[in-house]
Amino acid sequence: MRPTAAIVRLCLSAGIRKPWKQKSKTKRSKTMSGSDNNTKRTQLAVNRRTFVGDGLRVAGVVGLTGLAGFLVGRKSDAAETVWQLDPNKCVACENCATHCVLDKSAVICVHDFVMCGYCELCTGYFEPESGELTTAAENQLCPTGAIVRKFIEEPYYEYDIDDHLCIGCGKCVKGCGTFGNGSLYLQVDPHHCVNCNECAIAVACPSEAFSRVPASQPYIRKSENESQ
Ligand code: SF4
Ligand code: SF4
Ligand code: SF4
Repeated sequence: MRPTAAIVRLCLSAGIRKPWKQKSKTKRSKTMSGSDNNTKRTQLAVNRRTFVGDGLRVAGVVGLTGLAGFLVGRKSDAAETVWQLDPNKCVACENCATHCVLDKSAVICVHDFVMCGYCELCTGYFEPESGELTTAAENQLCPTGAIVRKFIEEPYYEYDIDDHLCIGCGKCVKGCGTFGNGSLYLQVDPHHCVNCNECAIAVACPSEAFSRVPASQPYIRKSENESQ
């Protein structure tokens, strides 16, 4: 069963201080041990703020076009399903940033710390041509500076997403997926999405990654698929 937002919030508040300690011995390890379900559940820390939002946030971000979608979307609530994208199908085409009815897309990047290699040279963070591994703006792949890089201990770095800045462009997703573990990926934030009857991004998605999922399990996690 996928973790609910409450479970994710619980993970974070439980203070998973050093998940990178769980890395396997391979370079840029993929997952933690799959045998310890309790430990795994505890460490399903997606993003500190991404899915821990207050539903009232919706009211602050719905623009005029979004309001129409919001009103229509109330009907969909009755069906108790919401839109979500499958990160295993997504090709990071950038349509998610531009086709949402909201002014700021409801799709944002999340970081699955279970999968992350905590790399010093994160290919989701650094421009391929960056001359040095510093946080200078010109070295960053993200156009909005939404990825926060934090030194943990030699040689590990943690990368966190500021969902207020993320526009869902997927540049980091492509960078991480091409050379890294693919731990950065896109998801519809159900606290932001107004659940349009027909999702405008789904219509524009070239890989048919969007579908309706139960509102009680609104996320599709890559690491869950890995463990199956
Ligand atoms: S590169 Fe794009 S998808 Fe990734 S964090 Fe920045 S704005 Fe979000
Ligand atoms: S249903 Fe699709 S278009 Fe509508 S707000 Fe959600 S992500 Fe955006
Ligand atoms: S439109 Fe589809 S393929 Fe493109 S970024 Fe969004 S989910 Fe990925």
